Amino acid sequence: MKKKVIIIGGGFAGLHVAKALQCESLDVVLIDKQNHHQFQPLYYQVASARLEPSNISFPFRKIFQKSKNIQVRLEDVKQILPNNNQVITNEGSHSYDFLIIATGCKTNFFGNSAIEQHALSMKTTEESIQIRNHILLNFEKYISANVSEIEKQQLLNIVLVGAGPTGVELAGAFAEMKSHILPRDYPQTDFSKLNVFLLEGSKHTLNSMSNKSKQASRKYLEDMGVIVKTETFVTSYDGHQATLNNGEVIPTSNLIWAAGVIGNLIDGLETSTIIRNRYKVDRQNKIIGYQNIYAIGDIAYMETPLYPNGHPQLANVAINQGKTLAKNIKRLLSQQKPLDYEYKDLGSMATIGKHRAVVDLPHVKFSGYLAWFFWMFLHLMLILSVRNKMQIFFNWAWNYFTKDSSLRLILKTKK
Ligand SMILES: Cc1cc2nc3c(=O)[nH]c(=O)nc-3n(C[C@H](O)[C@H](O)[C@H](O)COP(=O)(O)OP(=O)(O)OC[C@H]3O[C@@H](n4cnc5c(N)ncnc54)[C@H](O)[C@@H]3O)c2cc1C
Repeated sequence: MKKKVIIIGGGFAGLHVAKALQCESLDVVLIDKQNHHQFQPLYYQVASARLEPSNISFPFRKIFQKSKNIQVRLEDVKQILPNNNQVITNEGSHSYDFLIIATGCKTNFFGNSAIEQHALSMKTTEESIQIRNHILLNFEKYISANVSEIEKQQLLNIVLVGAGPTGVELAGAFAEMKSHILPRDYPQTDFSKLNVFLLEGSKHTLNSMSNKSKQASRKYLEDMGVIVKTETFVTSYDGHQATLNNGEVIPTSNLIWAAGVIGNLIDGLETSTIIRNRYKVDRQNKIIGYQNIYAIGDIAYMETPLYPNGHPQLANVAINQGKTLAKNIKRLLSQQKPLDYEYKDLGSMATIGKHRAVVDLPHVKFSGYLAWFFWMFLHLMLILSVRNKMQIFFNWAWNYFTKDSSLRLILKTKK
């Protein structure tokens, strides 16, 4: 009888393990609560109305149309029953021989429920669309006659919390929107009071990158008019005012939280397997204490000689853990010794705006025009389908030459 593999989550890790398990000797069920794979590095372009959500989202059923051994289920996994080899979802239950957990992370508000209630976050395609709708709608409210001066400033202040790549990229995109788009969309309105704030708890923007990139990113942002405040925390936010650790209060109805993530753990496994809100795994991604349950990607915590505190939560780690685990499952079935995983750091990068990006490669660091083209080329290569690559290329080329896009739809949903 064929062995049955269940994969929970079709992000970078889950998608790549499933793709590499397209073989006749296994039955694979990919369960995800979304019906599509999401390309998270370009969420900020959806949030700032530069790309359509469909450009960076890929329906699983389309991806696996021709894979006879892979079934897709749109379900939310609620619990794992390791003693019965079963997972329980909102729709029912599935049994497995091998279970792979690839559930990634969600936004971490560090227990601050007021911030969680009022802030926007960007961990799914829906949330990126929500940011786009929210900001565009607030511009419309701003020009309406019924708004007080205090409310007007709240509508015009965009506060981004966390100056990692997400915060930096969003800040640059909104600064460009202020310079190039708003004067054309609202020719009768003065948007000079629109402020983009970027707040960061550490001393630097892009704190995990090289000194050169930290300095260059800050300079680019400030040149573009972004107000950068480092060593600054938001202590509370009520939807109208953000209070900072130095006592300063910023009036804003647009606060986007990009300050941390926490693992999407599922009930049912021993708490001793959880470390730093991730599942502790061995070098083959097997969860410590279990024989047939694996975790890969952001949700996995693996200590190695090169990374004694676990790997960084990056797409490349997730993709390669997925590929290695697929090889190991096949090796296991043919009684071969499994391979150990190690991450090879290929570098990191972030884009701040047109002709402004920073790239840290293992042996060379550079910024500016060349870095910006390099960033675009690499992201285009990473996008899944040729059709999506072409759509994105077309949108970027259009934006490049016109400094504009025509994607600023406000899509309101009624409950
Ligand atoms: C805005 C943003 C920008 C980023 N930019 C970069 C970048 O430039 N470079 C880079 O290397 N990394 C970047 N990252 C990080 C990168 O996206 C992650 O490291 C990567 O997505 C991890 O892959 P994963 O498969 O572990 O998890 P994910 O890609 O998060 O996938 C998890 C999947 O599991 C599903 N899921 C979760 N819980 C359940 C459940 N209970 N039941 C069913 N399904 C479930 C989710 O729907 C999702 O499809 C960025 C992340 C964000 C949020």
